[in-house]
Amino acid sequence: MLEERKDHIADLVVVANRLPVRREQGDDGESGDWTVSPGGLVSALAPVVADKKRFAWVGWPGSSEAPLEPFTHDGMRLVPAHLTAEEHELHYEGMSNGTLWPLYHDKIEPAEFHRTWYDGYRRVNRRFADLICDSAAEDATVWVHDYQLQLVPGYVRANRPDLSIGFFLHIPFPPSELFRQIPWREDLTIGLLGADLIGFQTPEGAANFARVAESLDLATRESANLLSRNGRPIEVRSFPIGIDVERYAEGATRPEITAGAVAVRERLGNPRSVLLGVDRLDYTKGIDVRLRAFGELLAEERFAPGEVNLIQVAEPSRGNVDAYVALRERVQGLVGEINGDFARVGVPPVHYIHQSQDFDELMSLYRSADVMMVTPFRDGMNLVAKEWVATRYDDTGVLVLSEFAGAVHELDRALIVNPYDIDGVKEALVRAVLMDPAEAAERMAAMRASVEQNNAVKWAESFLQALAETSGPQAS
Ligand code: UDP
Repeated sequence: MLEERKDHIADLVVVANRLPVRREQGDDGESGDWTVSPGGLVSALAPVVADKKRFAWVGWPGSSEAPLEPFTHDGMRLVPAHLTAEEHELHYEGMSNGTLWPLYHDKIEPAEFHRTWYDGYRRVNRRFADLICDSAAEDATVWVHDYQLQLVPGYVRANRPDLSIGFFLHIPFPPSELFRQIPWREDLTIGLLGADLIGFQTPEGAANFARVAESLDLATRESANLLSRNGRPIEVRSFPIGIDVERYAEGATRPEITAGAVAVRERLGNPRSVLLGVDRLDYTKGIDVRLRAFGELLAEERFAPGEVNLIQVAEPSRGNVDAYVALRERVQGLVGEINGDFARVGVPPVHYIHQSQDFDELMSLYRSADVMMVTPFRDGMNLVAKEWVATRYDDTGVLVLSEFAGAVHELDRALIVNPYDIDGVKEALVRAVLMDPAEAAERMAAMRASVEQNNAVKWAESFLQALAETSGPQAS
């Protein structure tokens, strides 16, 4: 039966909310050519996908225009999941970003529960699952990504028990007490338990999930990293995601990046120290925390305006969600307050960039900074922290890192802060600015070694290797 269908072609099917390509706007205003979105999953997977002809990627193409047939781009088979505008709103903006995102990030903002959102979520997950079943060869491997698609493993297993199914969650998995507030907690847990291997960014995420599955009586714990459901083993482990280290390390040494970094510092008036934050404008990131800490340090004259400057990149994000609009106003208010109180003409202490930066712009900023501030209240990993470390080929600079970012497990030689403790953040910023270069170099060298050791490709390889080693379909 399977052999008769020519679309059952892929030995490896990757499934993520978005396809790894973007459609450029053509000169005539019409949709133009597809280009591969840089970085992220696609660069982690490229070297792993030995035979691209037998590889497929299922995802939303980025617009709700007319449905698109599967197509091949850059050797990759791309399978677009068509969603209507309403489905996208219910599934992505509603359930994914209005319910799951805040709840999985410790409810820094309240999570909303709406049955209509969940209905949309279910419908969209079902559609993705159907496309996977149509695209996967017999006994193929399926790798499902992230919180938007947690029902997919269960749906796929029900239709295609021959497949080996992995799931990776890129954001934190919350403590059981929080997760159990979700009205559809059983559905989501059963959905995830459809996988043979469930990967998390940290051991805490894996432990939280195992506890949820046990406490809801949906799985039995066999050992530290092994659950079972109806006699089928399910491995639950952490796989901290890595970055494309070479891209950042090599990019950092390019002459135009070095010149760009010098130009940034000159435009700031060559201050003694440049503090940098780079985030999506998201309430999980603690942008307000570091601004408040910086403002207080100026007010207390522990930092002098013009001597220590702060650059904050806040990439626009989810701008049609109320909580994000409120955050934007809060952050802009803080920036205005600090600059109003401490600027001299031509020398504002805070430079706020509410625009997306491309790779080269980001690299120049990374190289211009003496102190990188990564202070999320909660973050699955935080790639910016790793990227910045990868660009410090000369072992200069100090990373101030929240203990609630997944990256803290690997970057434990940073100055670790609790973002809820403003005084602690202030002390860390002062210590970072004053740190002896030899101590900074020793810390940075250790962190750089750790980032280099676990790059994106190794991450993907180790996940797929672990999935291949799970007993998978035979046991189902
Ligand atoms: N980034 C970017 N341009 C910007 C701001 C951020 O390209 O203006 C990139 C950054 O280099 C990183 C990613 O966006 O690769 C953010 O990943 P992270 O894990 O730090 O946070 P997320 O946005 O996924 O929550």
